[in-house]
Amino acid sequence: MTTTRFAPSPTGYLHVGNLRTALMNHLIARKVGGTFILRIDDTDPERSKEEYVEAIKEDLTWLGLTWARIERQSARLHRYEEAAERLRGMGRLYECFETPEELELKRRKQLAMGRPPVYDRAALTLSEDEKDRLRAARGPGHWRFRLDHERIEWQDGILGPRSIDAASVSDPVLIRADGQVLYTLASVVDDTEMGVTDVVRGADHVTNTATQIQIIAALGGRCPRFAHHSLLTGPQGEALSKRLGTLALRDLRAQGVEPAALLSLMARLGSSDPVELTDDLDRLAEGFDLSKFGAAPTRFDAADLFPLTARHLHALPFEAVQGEIAALGVPDALAERFWTVARENIETRADLAGWWALCRDGAEPAIAPEDAEFVAEAVALLPDPPYGPETWGDWTGAVKERTGRKGKALFMPLRKALTGRERGPEMADLMPLLQRVRAKD
Ligand code: GLU
Repeated sequence: MTTTRFAPSPTGYLHVGNLRTALMNHLIARKVGGTFILRIDDTDPERSKEEYVEAIKEDLTWLGLTWARIERQSARLHRYEEAAERLRGMGRLYECFETPEELELKRRKQLAMGRPPVYDRAALTLSEDEKDRLRAARGPGHWRFRLDHERIEWQDGILGPRSIDAASVSDPVLIRADGQVLYTLASVVDDTEMGVTDVVRGADHVTNTATQIQIIAALGGRCPRFAHHSLLTGPQGEALSKRLGTLALRDLRAQGVEPAALLSLMARLGSSDPVELTDDLDRLAEGFDLSKFGAAPTRFDAADLFPLTARHLHALPFEAVQGEIAALGVPDALAERFWTVARENIETRADLAGWWALCRDGAEPAIAPEDAEFVAEAVALLPDPPYGPETWGDWTGAVKERTGRKGKALFMPLRKALTGRERGPEMADLMPLLQRVRAKD
């Protein structure tokens, strides 16, 4: 039975980088009919906010990334305390009293001597008396997991065989001096107790994984399969981490990006498979193969989402947008024709309102000075609405005869006079939708 989880911390809005993690875990479970859990990593009471929990659920729901159940770390603190007690009993969790300044000083000294800045385990040699004294002077200490100094190895689903020398890593802090359990422990307890079989997360977690493998072993849990996807960069290969705030899913939604565009792109970006445009998650799951993803940083350009959005919209049948079009106030008799005419000319759904306003109210004419006389002559030949499918042909035929203009010199000034734009639907198709021509006012 495959179980995966997406484990965001509710300290901000989900962005495209988070989506990649969520989607990969969702698709792995979906592909085999497994279980996908939404786990809220909210052990940090200061930074976790309920509004972000709601926003995370809203964003995932918008994308159709449904979860079997939701778990909250804040409701499981007793489980982490119990695991910590067991580790203490085994001598794998030890109390340390260094201040952040002292640790920083040690780090700098090590670096100055050309040594890796690994915690020196000074606290391991403290006697009980010394610890009592430190506790009295500084308050309770923080707790580190004592790593076994051996090589930690795993077969990574994306990176391939990985091996990290535990001696090159600091013993991780699992519990802060104020008693707050940290992610490294909480995540292991959850993954083990919830039967998580596959963990996909960003490459920034590789070192965590190494230490977590030892913690899982110490607690007697079963180790999930781990895979670390590459981090996203901007289009030029620049780090995206600082800009991810501007790539929040809700901002992209507000800009009109369709779920189909985001899902299709993020399910394949960085893999050797081409992007297949669909909003069908079963289909995306079917073709999803973790082993096809590369380890190199993945370039992401938000601009790519817009052509995909447009292509998705162009292919939508009328039934899919009927309600929305009615809500714009398009009369039923015109609705289907309106969609057929407008859909090729929109980038996002929001553009529909502009096209309908143009049909209903007419457009501010765009007339070049050298065309003014020609347009005035032509408009005088145009009857009042309503128009039919033959109106454009009849009218331009009459104008041609009267003025002698033909081709682009005939059609373009008329299109611009009626629509205010150089581009748009076939005029013959648009005319029956035009309720008003302002050039005639
Ligand atoms: N809350 C962690 C994060 O957002 C989860 C990492 C993981 O998947 O284990 O980075």
